[in-house]
Amino acid sequence: MTSAASPQPIRRIVIAGGGTAGWMVAAGLAKCLGQQYDICLVESEEIGTVGVGEATIPTLHFMHEILDLEEKEFIQATQATFKLGISFENWRNVGEHYFHSFGKTGQGHWTAGFHHFWLEGRKRGLASDYGDYCLELRAALDKRFALLPEGGLNYAYHFDATLYGQYLRRFSEDLGVRRLEGKIVQVHQTPEQGDITGLTLDSGVRVDGDFFIDCTGMRALLIGQALGVGYESWQQWLPCDRALAVQTTSVEEPVPYTRSIAHPWGWQWRIPLQHRVGNGLVFSSRHVSDDDARRALLDNVQGEVLREPRVIHFTPGQREAVWKRNVVAIGLSSGFLEPLESTSIHLIQKGLTRLVELFPTDGIFQSDIDEYNRQARESIEHIRDFIILHYHVTHRADSDFWRRCRDMDVPASLQHRIQLFRDSARFVPAAGDLFAENSWVQVMMGQGIVPRAHHPITRQMDNASLSDFLGTVRKDVARQLMKLPRHQQFIQQFCPAP
Ligand code: FAD
Repeated sequence: MTSAASPQPIRRIVIAGGGTAGWMVAAGLAKCLGQQYDICLVESEEIGTVGVGEATIPTLHFMHEILDLEEKEFIQATQATFKLGISFENWRNVGEHYFHSFGKTGQGHWTAGFHHFWLEGRKRGLASDYGDYCLELRAALDKRFALLPEGGLNYAYHFDATLYGQYLRRFSEDLGVRRLEGKIVQVHQTPEQGDITGLTLDSGVRVDGDFFIDCTGMRALLIGQALGVGYESWQQWLPCDRALAVQTTSVEEPVPYTRSIAHPWGWQWRIPLQHRVGNGLVFSSRHVSDDDARRALLDNVQGEVLREPRVIHFTPGQREAVWKRNVVAIGLSSGFLEPLESTSIHLIQKGLTRLVELFPTDGIFQSDIDEYNRQARESIEHIRDFIILHYHVTHRADSDFWRRCRDMDVPASLQHRIQLFRDSARFVPAAGDLFAENSWVQVMMGQGIVPRAHHPITRQMDNASLSDFLGTVRKDVARQLMKLPRHQQFIQQFCPAP
């Protein structure tokens, strides 16, 4: 029995679409495999890109390591700022907030994470705010930042998505990627199997290829329209299905974190860049009209509006298969989870690195396709659960939207994690997890879960030793914090405007 889905050796790779996904894939493939393959990217200026996607998570460092990018050059080219986490405002309750930082909070024991010791300390009146034990969190709220030696602050970036695309385009073209401008008007397939063989552009030019990456965004021109792969909606758990995005001028120094501000029917983001601020609203069209959402957004931005808000329609969910025949979907064509935890660019990067790891050698094998699809699903389902957590665990009951979120059934995998934490403050990592214990604990406690119990190991410590243990961490954080410059000042010194 043969497991080859397509016995043709691959020489020509065609990337359809040149948004963040298209250019990240082009850059990564050119860097890793470019000497062996002819890589061509097709994009249409007339169609344009989705134009949002400006907050990232620390995994992006690995992408830049692969590409061997110079950090200073990247920051200058994309008007980037640093990001230490996300401030969640009005999520647990109106008027309350918490912070999900990228940092590590304290140091635990092999039996139990730091939060168990903090919970015991709080019970005995020995612990202060949970955030006092995390440098990234304190630095974010104090608007401080510096690049510290290895093991220092764990950080990501906010950047201008359009500038990032242009930056990666220059990088890819320097490595030999060919770019073709034009609208794809026809997709050619083999009559028997349906493999894609070429794309015809509106100019009449035909681009043939052996392997295709669908980066055409929500249109999903190849994987969805040509190959007919279905889309699984997760709207029963993620009620938001529209977004509005608007850019404004900066009126204050950029904070090193994203703001996520909940509304009665969705939430709003604020992403500070060096030269402007990215703002947007994610909302449920069943609970608010586009006009009311637009008004709420414009009432809640600072600075001058640079361009009229644009409505973006989406369905949260995942393509049933992201690799079929000789097409792999990466980016919005593969699925979309709202940007609450800034995970889409990470998923593009994961799609790329997974593809490089499983790249077809002598023909395409069904086993590689199955493995790719399995890993892709595992990783997006983990993120899906983490995002649902923010909506589901809330004390808010002030609108239909929040009551529905609070009362809905959630996936069993998430229900188990919530119950385990509620009962015993435990978190058990699973294969494919992107967010580790520290993230889950911050969000679960931040959204209002108070564990009924915590690990008995913490009771081995008497008051003096527990107080000393917690106090040492807190003082160390406070001492390091004082050495950090202001975020704004750091950017100006690290990469002054040219
Ligand atoms: P697109 O940007 O839509 O690019 C599609 C490309 O395909 C374009 O070049 C287009 O011209 C081309 N194309 C389409 N059809 C044709 C055709 N017929 N012929 C030729 N070319 C064609 N992600 C994050 O990580 N962080 C965030 O903070 C974040 N915020 C977001 C906010 C919102 C409201 C939304 C909707 C998404 C957000 N994302 C975020 C996701 C992020 O924007 C995307 O993952 C990322 O931009 C990748 O998009 P893409 O390249 O897949 O699609």
